[in-house]
Amino acid sequence: MSDDDQMWVPPRRSLLAWLRDLGGRLAAPRVDPPEPHPAKLTGLRERVQFYGDPGRGAVDKAWQRSNIITCRDKNGDRPTMPGVPAQWYFEIHRLVEPHARRAFAAARDAAPEYEIERAASFVFRHQRHDPRRPLSLHSWGIAIDVDAALNAAHTSKPGEYPEPWGPAWVERWPRGLPQGFVEAFEAAGWTWGGRWREYCDPMHFSWDRRP
Ligand SMILES: [Zn+2]
Repeated sequence: MSDDDQMWVPPRRSLLAWLRDLGGRLAAPRVDPPEPHPAKLTGLRERVQFYGDPGRGAVDKAWQRSNIITCRDKNGDRPTMPGVPAQWYFEIHRLVEPHARRAFAAARDAAPEYEIERAASFVFRHQRHDPRRPLSLHSWGIAIDVDAALNAAHTSKPGEYPEPWGPAWVERWPRGLPQGFVEAFEAAGWTWGGRWREYCDPMHFSWDRRP
């Protein structure tokens, strides 16, 4: 007879231990589980399935009219994004707008000292502005760049990747996004380009998920 065949016997516990256990559970603070996020997109096919086809070579104006919205208190479809200066026409995919709004609000709470100068999402273009590359997620309005001028992308040699917020990082991006700001976006489900190795893009956040 193997161990597996032996009958399981519940451990004996005194009433006192049980009560102590119950009391501890009742007194323990309630911890919310991490917020569940929509599933990651598996690729281009799903991206088009959920967010539509923004066009080839040039933007499909009909797609843009029915999917891209402007977040601006004045002359906008929705209010300005939290923390984003009101003068910018912040254009984004309508299905991703709530995720962006949550992330910007959380980032402002996490890093209240950081003042965004400029943020943008929708622009029809290829990855890294190279027409040989596929369309960028910005073409769908499902990626955001924050303060591009202060967080310029950088290509490193293998093994020479700067560690986020390490000495080499701070030297390269002295006024880059603070850790709290970035982590708030990540906790809200966004993927940060600052964790990419060879091609590091610290201004960039992708919503590479279903709506
Ligand atoms: Zn970007």
